[in-house]
Parts: sequence; structure tokens; C-alpha cells
Amino acid sequence: MKVTELFGSNVFTDDVMKNALPREVYKSLRKTIDEGQPLDSSIAGAVANAMKDWAVSKGATHYTHWFQPLTNLTAEKHDSFIEPSGDKVIMQLTGKNLIVGEPDASSFPSGGTRETSAARGYTAWDPTSPAFVKEGTLYIPTVFVSYTGETLDKKAPLLKSMTAIDLQAKRLLKLFGITCRKVSTTVGPEQEYFLVDEDVYTRRKDLMLTGRTLFGAPPARGQELDDHYFASLKPRISAFMRDLDETLWSYGIFAKTKHNEAAPAQHELAPVFTTTNVAVDDNQLTMELMKKVAQKHHMVCLLHEKPFEGVNGSGKHNNWSLSTDTGLNLLDPGENPEKNTLFMLVLACTIAAVDRYQGILRGCVASAGNDHRLGANEAPPAIISVYLGDQLGAIVDSIVLGREYVPKKAIPGSIGVPESPIFPIDTTDRNRTSPFAFTGNKFEFRMMGSQASVADPNIVLNTIVAESFSAAVDALGGAQDFEKACAAYTNKLLKEHYRIIFNYNGYGPDWEAEAERRGLLNNKTTADAVPEFFRRENIDVFVRQGVYTEKEVVARADIMLENYVKTINIEALTMLEMGRQDIYPAVNGYIAEICSVIAAKRAVSEKFACAADTALAEQLSLMNEALMQALKKLEKDLREMPAGVGPASQKMAHVIVPDMEAVRTVADGMEQLCSSDYWPYPTYEDLLYSIR
Ligand code: ADP
Ligand code: MG
Repeated sequence: MKVTELFGSNVFTDDVMKNALPREVYKSLRKTIDEGQPLDSSIAGAVANAMKDWAVSKGATHYTHWFQPLTNLTAEKHDSFIEPSGDKVIMQLTGKNLIVGEPDASSFPSGGTRETSAARGYTAWDPTSPAFVKEGTLYIPTVFVSYTGETLDKKAPLLKSMTAIDLQAKRLLKLFGITCRKVSTTVGPEQEYFLVDEDVYTRRKDLMLTGRTLFGAPPARGQELDDHYFASLKPRISAFMRDLDETLWSYGIFAKTKHNEAAPAQHELAPVFTTTNVAVDDNQLTMELMKKVAQKHHMVCLLHEKPFEGVNGSGKHNNWSLSTDTGLNLLDPGENPEKNTLFMLVLACTIAAVDRYQGILRGCVASAGNDHRLGANEAPPAIISVYLGDQLGAIVDSIVLGREYVPKKAIPGSIGVPESPIFPIDTTDRNRTSPFAFTGNKFEFRMMGSQASVADPNIVLNTIVAESFSAAVDALGGAQDFEKACAAYTNKLLKEHYRIIFNYNGYGPDWEAEAERRGLLNNKTTADAVPEFFRRENIDVFVRQGVYTEKEVVARADIMLENYVKTINIEALTMLEMGRQDIYPAVNGYIAEICSVIAAKRAVSEKFACAADTALAEQLSLMNEALMQALKKLEKDLREMPAGVGPASQKMAHVIVPDMEAVRTVADGMEQLCSSDYWPYPTYEDLLYSIR
């Protein structure tokens, strides 16, 4: 099939919808999708029927309300279309079936917003994200709410945050005399992942149970040669990527760029950006399909933030911008940003929001997995700062420090090869070390972990920027001289929030101390980052923008902490099992062999040199003893867990994680000394280099 035909072939697209629906029904539905108008329930029956007919023509027998509970995964429960009709069946999807579903919600995390006995939860159709057919089932994207109206998923608050920013951005634009129907935020999430061979994977208990290696000595060859990044693709990888692209395209996902990443066995996929909620759905589907397609190719796709120590971890870059339905990108600086009052105001509002709410922006991407990444060398530090680049940096400096600003034109460049064409060189270079970087006409938030839902940071970003816009409108509405008032307000914001701007190396050794002097937060662990959600001003911003109730904010933060505690608990238990049941006996086996070699040598002649054997046996024996001690300490600390997620998460972060590091250090040391015949697990070499 041609790519152009393949693309979206499994999706109930706008074209399909237009052809299948009566004109009035289609028009009414489009109003809901484009303008956020409430759905006219009288059209639901017609839409449901058209959707069902189309799905059946694609081989579907079932439908499911597809939703995003407070895990990072999606959930689905399948019902068939069949309805008895005499002694036969007909295929049916009613309007009600399309609009609401009622899965038993009691087993999904709710953070105490709902008693288990009052388990009712409803899924409600989200018409703004297209339905699709996958593996014989019609997938209907939905939001998930409780009987009492609390949201139980990531999509409902995301949609609310999109409404909030739409509303406030339109108010702001109105001050400039610009009217439009809708302002949408757009997102393009770049997804990093690892691929490992299935046979090797299944021999690693830690990877199977926790998604990351808990043990593993560094390989002789890591990523120091920088030879994997953008390297040509190995045939198995290339076949996988091709298969994945085609699969994603069939679901209407704009998979665009694919390449090898910095670490061995690490890769990246970037889609073309789209409206935020669609980008979120697409990313969930992408992660799921990456795993499934990998399986077809006898590989396993690892989405964990830090599957391997000592080489780069995986993140997800959240490229974020906002545009009107008329095509105006509010973050487009244009030729002369310094004279573009609208852009400068939007920029200042965004900077102010990021500074004011840095705690929750950091907090929303906190997880046990991401803790290994933030602050390590490949990821931005746990400190939030904004990178503006040379041009905008100079403009902001000129405003705040009173320096003169000399506009820098995009210089026509050439790469110095006479035959190569002349092209304009960008006015700003890239800065890979910044957690929140301006990149041309969007901001790139780089702190997200690879397996997290894209909804998390966008709920926060939309909410806090909406809040900034709303404050700006309140301050500027009714100003006598709008241009003047606007410039003054922009300058005031930039001055007040100048501390968050950092245009230099975020990996540099001085940055931490400098950030502390500036009063910026540096919450390195989930246990320390998530409680930011409990602060009054942070709860208030969600409530004011209509995104969460106070109860919902607290519930979600509690779930994050609970999840953190549970994840580390599983890791610690896995470590105890592997250490005691596999590593300790394996090393003893090897020691016994060395001892029998010593005995055998001595039996032949006392003159045999055994010093190296004895020393090795002795060293391994001492280390194995130390391993048991370290495991014992870990077990004891784990047993004495304080009550409550707050104290428990603190103990995990500051006692259990260091305990686990101590266990690992001894074990990895032994791996380097132990015969590979005895070591019970595939090594990092096996994991990182076995795919050809
Ligand atoms: P890189 O970060 O590797 O340099 P690009 O700058 O080309 O890559 O784009 C990265 C991602 O940003 C892509 O997924 C792209 O679709 C997305 N992107 C580009 N423009 C926008 C926008 N206006 N809003 C949101 N995302 C965007
Ligand atoms: Mg990027």
C-alpha cells in the first residue's frame, strides 16, 4: 500500500466522517470538535451508527472506551457489537454506548477521592480525538470520571487545562484587537527508547520485573566514542523502525524522524506536532505499539528512564507552543522580536509562569525512574531554568539590565564548500543542557521521563500560562495607552522573573551554587519534588483555572508518592531476591572452584604457585560476605517503613535508594572478578551489543 493510502487507514478520520454522516450531523459534530461546543446528544445515535459501520468494514467485532487512568498506561474493556435479534444477531452501537461507559473503576488509583465501596466510574467520549480500529476493536477515546464528578484520569484535566488557556489567550488577544475562534496548544513529543534482544532480556529478572537493571558492571565499551548517535541503522533495528513507522502511520500518527541516540542500543522517534490532547493519545499509542512491534522482531522495547547505569537514560522532549485557529503562533518572534509587543508579552508571561510555578513543573515529571536521570549528565539538572538563546537573551538583558540591544540579522551562511547552497543561519544556537529552552517558535521542556504520560507536563504548563495571561489581562484591560502599558508590564515581568533565565551550560559545576544564590528550587528526588503540589499557591492556581479541585490536586500528588514508594519497594525486593538466590550462590560456586583448583594444584606439587588463586578466593569471599551484610541492611530498613506516603517516600529516597546503591556496588565489583561461566546474568555487553 502507498504511504499516502496507508496513512490514517485505521482511523475514523474527518474525511470518513464527512462521507458517512448526514450533513447537519457532521456540521454539528465539527462545531463540538473545533469550537468546544457541548455535544448535541441527539446526533450521537447517527455518529455511533456510522462509526460502527465503518469499524465493521475494517473487521472490528468489538468496541472499547479507551481511557487514561492515573498510571502511565491506557485502559480498555472490550464489548462486542452483537445484539440478539430473534435467533440471530445484529451489529449495534447505540448513541449511549458511544457517549458513556461504566467500567468497574474500583481497581484504579484514585488517591482517596473515592471509597472502594463507591466504585462507580464513568467514561465519556472525547470527540476531539479520533476513534480508530486496532486488532479487531473500535477504540473510542474517552475521559474517566467518578460518580461524584472527580476526574480519575489524565485526559479530563488536560482538556480542562486546554480550555483554560484557550479562554485566557483569547482574552489577551482581544486586547490586541485580534479575534479568533480557538487558541490551541500544540505538542510534539520526541520519544527515546532502548531495544534489547528478547533472549537476553528474559534472562534478566530485574529488567522483567522493574524495567531497569539493578545490577551490572559497566561494559568495557560504553558511549565514550560517541559513535552511536545518528549512526547508520543495523538491519534488525532498521526493519523494526520501518514496521513501526508503517504501523503508526496506519493509525494516523505522524511519525517523522527516527535515529540512533547517544547510548548504545538507544533510539529516538519524533512525530510531527499536533493539538495537545491528540499528541497525548498518539504518544500513548506509540509507546504501546513500540513494545508490540519490538516483540514481533524478537526484541524488547525498554521505555524506562534509566535501564542501564553509566550510559544515557531516556527522556521525552515536550515541544510546546500555542496557535490560533487562524494560524498565528503566539510564540513566533517574527523578524524583530523586540518590536513585537504581543510576542514579548506572551514570552514574559511564560517566563513568569515557569518561575512562579517551577515547583510543580519539576514536580509533575517526578518519578522513581526519572530520579536517576535528572541531574545526571545527559539530562537537565533538577533545577528549572529558561534558556532564551542569543537573540532573545540579548533583548531581555537589554530590558532588564538597561544594555543597548543591537539586532542581529540572520546571516546568510555557507558551509564553505563552493558547490553548497547559501542558507540562512539561525539567529540562535541550541542549548541541550536547558530544561526549558526556547527553540525558534516553541519551548522545549526536556525534563520529562520516557515512560510518563505527555499529559502531565502539559496540564501544568497550560494551567500556569493561562494564569499568567489572566493576570496580564487584568492588569492591562482598560489601559489608556495600551502599547505603553503593555511594554511596561512586559518589562516588569521580565525584571521580576529574571532569575529563572539561564543562557549558559546547565551541566556546568557552578550552576547549582548559582541557582541556590538565585533562590531557585533544586528538588532532586520525587519525595522532595512532589510535595510542591501541597503548597497553597500551587493548589490555588489549579482551582482558579478550573483544572482541578483542591481534593484532586492532593489526590494526584498522593498517588505519585504512593507510586514512587511502591516502585522502589518492588526494586528492593527484586534486588534481595537476585542477590540472595542468584549472585551469592554463584560467587560461592566460583570460590569453591578456585579452592578446588588450589587443592588440586597442591596435591600435585607444593611448588605450584597459588598466591593469585588464594588472593582472589579471599577477596571474593570477603565481598560476598559484604553483599550479604548490605542485603541484610536493605531488608531491615525496608521492614521498618514509617506509616504514610510522605514519610515512606522520604525513607525510600534517603535510606533505601542509598542501601540499594551499596548492594549494587559490591555486586558489580564481584561481577568484574567472577568467571563469566559462573555469573548468573547476561552482562551489559550482552544487553547493549547483541543486536546486529
Ligand atoms: P529537535 O528538537 O531534534 O531539534 P525539531 O526542532 O525539528 O527537532 O522538532 C522537534 C519537535 O518539535 C518535533 O516533534 C516537531 O514536530 C515539534 N514542533 C515543531 N514546531 C512545533 C510547534 N509549533 N508546537 C509544538 N511542537 C512543535
Ligand atoms: Mg529535542
